[in-house]
Amino acid sequence: MSEPKNVVIAGAGIGGLTAALACAKKNMTVTVIERAAQLGEVGAGLQIAANGTHVLEKLGLGKELENIGFRPEAATLRLGQSGRTIFSNPLGDAARERYGAWYYHVHRADLHRILAEAASANPNIDLQLGKAVTGVVENAGVVTATLSDGTSMTCAALIGADGIHSSVRESLFGKDAPRFTGNVAWRLLVPAENLPADLIPPHATVWTGPKGHTVTYYVRGGELVNFVGIVEREDWQVEGWLESGDVKELKQDFASWCSTIHQLIDAADETTCFKWALFDRDPLPVWSKGRVTLLGDACHPMLPFMAQGACMAIEDAWVLATELSKADDSAQAFLAYEELRKKRTARVQMAARANARRFHKGRPAGQLTTYGPMWLAAQVKPDLLNKPFDWIYGANVTKA
Ligand SMILES: Cc1cc2nc3c(=O)[nH]c(=O)nc-3n(C[C@H](O)[C@H](O)[C@H](O)COP(=O)(O)OP(=O)(O)OC[C@H]3O[C@@H](n4cnc5c(N)ncnc54)[C@H](O)[C@@H]3O)c2cc1C
Repeated sequence: MSEPKNVVIAGAGIGGLTAALACAKKNMTVTVIERAAQLGEVGAGLQIAANGTHVLEKLGLGKELENIGFRPEAATLRLGQSGRTIFSNPLGDAARERYGAWYYHVHRADLHRILAEAASANPNIDLQLGKAVTGVVENAGVVTATLSDGTSMTCAALIGADGIHSSVRESLFGKDAPRFTGNVAWRLLVPAENLPADLIPPHATVWTGPKGHTVTYYVRGGELVNFVGIVEREDWQVEGWLESGDVKELKQDFASWCSTIHQLIDAADETTCFKWALFDRDPLPVWSKGRVTLLGDACHPMLPFMAQGACMAIEDAWVLATELSKADDSAQAFLAYEELRKKRTARVQMAARANARRFHKGRPAGQLTTYGPMWLAAQVKPDLLNKPFDWIYGANVTKA
């Protein structure tokens, strides 16, 4: 490593903070510029599968993750209207044995907090809040970022981890709006103590239905149930972790669904009801220009239907830091990084889109042809249900 690496990261989300920790671990000095004036209690549940857990453990956060996480016992698919189970496949110890790390459910705010605390405690990381990166240019090998407070800073390399509406992406490749997917996500947190004991099993459960699906799982060590309700709707195109929703409207969207879903909604803390229009983008053919690159939702935003957006950002972070630490030149490192990441992240983006079609089956014929074979596999050869996930959960970028 001949070039001194002072790296600037735009965005202190899950991806940006993980990248900061991974770069600092490889002896780089990192400045993280975050638009928000403070890092707070934002978001709801996230599933962190083994492929994400490997990286967080390697960054020394295994114990913290265990403290904030909930380990689901199974992955379950149910029909949303009748409540009938199609299959229930073990996670927990079985997933750990298969993939070498735990499958966790976490509250996004908890994961974000442990990352931010680790970053703040790291002498190689300078976390600066309340300013945005507004533009990036590279001249004679030096990258200059302009900031919203009127100042600018120079660095050897810059990483745009600034989310789906990335300003860094726009600086590199021009304006290009994300695509509304026609899906809206309702989000809700339900105190577990408000629920009958066995209403929601300790599973990652997807409930399928006509033009929508819901997902339920425990977070915060089992204190809260996270509810995500997806509906196909064209009339709401506002996104963000802070767009409040109306519980009555949510109930209306799921009017024909089974009583478990309604009991859950009725027991929720209404202040946690958010309504989020889901956008994505097509895979981006090139992620980097010279000494500037992108990471996470900035380059591969996806529907949350594979529960892998944050995990892909976490994987990106590790691979990017590894390549930066190996190469003499950041530009070469970024080319190597994107070559290692593009195919996999594009495949997950497409798989997430395909799940919209798979989960949103209302008619009996569609349900029978889609879920019948899954039900049968669960009866005769349950391992067949794991195989489609091996390429995702089975990857360990820290060993590559
Ligand atoms: C309903 C829903 C459910 C989901 N469930 C899962 C799941 O179960 N598992 C999973 O792995 N993923 C899940 N995801 C996806 C996951 O939340 C995202 O993929 C992930 O948070 C992306 O992280 P990121 O760091 O790339 O971007 P972000 O989290 O968007 O962070 C970007 C950061 O950059 C900051 N910023 C923006 N612009 C600028 C700027 N110009 N300058 C400086 N800072 C800036 C923002 O304030 C923010 O802090 C879900 C998403 C949704 C919507």
